[in-house]
Amino acid sequence: MSDTYDVIVIGGGAVGLAAAHECGARNRRVLVVEAGTFFNDDGSSSGATRQFRVQHDEETPARLVLEALPLWKALEESAEVPLLHPVGCLWFGEDDAVGSTGDIKSAVAVMDALSLPYERLEAPQIERRFGFHGLPRDWNGILQPDGGLIDVGATLRTLHRTADAMPHVTLRDQSPVTHLERDGGRWQVTAADNTYGADKLVVAPGPFVDPVLAHFGLRLDRTLWSMVNAWFPIKDGPAEGPVWVNLRRPGPPDDPGLYYGFPEVAFDRPGHARLGGNFPSPVLDDIAAYDKTPDPAVVCRIASWVKEHMPGLDPEPAFASACIAAQLVRPEDPYALRRELLLDFAPIDGGDDVVICATGWVFKLIPLVGRICADLVCEGATSYDISPFRISADTLG
Ligand SMILES: Cc1cc2nc3c(=O)[nH]c(=O)nc-3n(C[C@H](O)[C@H](O)[C@H](O)COP(=O)(O)OP(=O)(O)OC[C@H]3O[C@@H](n4cnc5c(N)ncnc54)[C@H](O)[C@@H]3O)c2cc1C
Repeated sequence: MSDTYDVIVIGGGAVGLAAAHECGARNRRVLVVEAGTFFNDDGSSSGATRQFRVQHDEETPARLVLEALPLWKALEESAEVPLLHPVGCLWFGEDDAVGSTGDIKSAVAVMDALSLPYERLEAPQIERRFGFHGLPRDWNGILQPDGGLIDVGATLRTLHRTADAMPHVTLRDQSPVTHLERDGGRWQVTAADNTYGADKLVVAPGPFVDPVLAHFGLRLDRTLWSMVNAWFPIKDGPAEGPVWVNLRRPGPPDDPGLYYGFPEVAFDRPGHARLGGNFPSPVLDDIAAYDKTPDPAVVCRIASWVKEHMPGLDPEPAFASACIAAQLVRPEDPYALRRELLLDFAPIDGGDDVVICATGWVFKLIPLVGRICADLVCEGATSYDISPFRISADTLG
């Protein structure tokens, strides 16, 4: 054995780096083992932007987003550029249509319960203020002013740089974990021909979760979503505006609608607006089948949406890409999530030495998720309410 640590973090994406940052700040000896390079585009943290949204259909995740805000601000003090861009977050469409981020009616109920500000908008106002066109007259919207977008690259770079500068944190790339076993009270982690020892593990391999959990004899009841992004040149009309999510009842079987979009930002193909499909295309069984190719049929459908509803954009996409996420979906509606994320001790021998953070829409919570992972591995408990994110029999495959 070459090295021993208090905590080994498996996976150096957003979650792993945030966990290392927080454990390092508590003076724990931490090793992050990352299979590829840091800032890779193989997993769920690829791309330049993510939505930061308060709208949720349950109170706990909405509360956690609010609790994450001061931690984002604290992280931003170490950043070279702003990490959060509070441009607002607009949901619009059919009140009771459910998408992978929730539905308008439930989000309104949660915001009312938490006394959060939002503005109700009707279709003509949404068109006038944000440049949409041809929206059905029975569509409504809610604009939440605290939401906005996250600079993904700057967040990852800030976490990596600050963690790397901590005396007890070691960051190793090109170190895929190939074997894990418990030896007495300690974990032995084999990665890139080295074996390291640790008292505790944080398991954060993103969509590559299956092979890692297999070492513990565990499997999550997850689906793998390959998701499409497309960038459209801005012709005229407001390049500024909120991030937005359109919610409508599924159309034809192959077109769930459920598009979402971002305003122009200087750090993501300036002169273009990014749109995406908030649904899988396709669902994959095995991560080995993911080849980063965006489904051309979905790119075409997003382009049709642009042609019909966004006259300020050129409907010919200039670029398209795919990104992969692991999700826990509802059996009755494969486009709706059962859990926003999973964050819990691994159910192994009733122990509290392995923490898993996997699946879902986690980026908005990144500094908080890092803190909760550190609470769990360093203190054995957290004061944050993670009860909806626990791993239970129904989340295991
Ligand atoms: C298209 C898309 C849109 C999204 N939009 C939003 C959004 O708007 N808002 C939001 O909050 N969230 C959003 N998400 C979710 C969010 O991006 C993810 O929850 C988050 O990036 C997950 O980070 P992670 O660190 O868990 O995973 P990853 O970034 O995938 O990192 C996992 C890392 O583990 C490494 N790894 C894997 N296996 C091993 C191994 N055996 N050994 C060592 N290392 C290993 C991988 O190489 C990878 O670098 C979106 C996701 C997608 C795909």
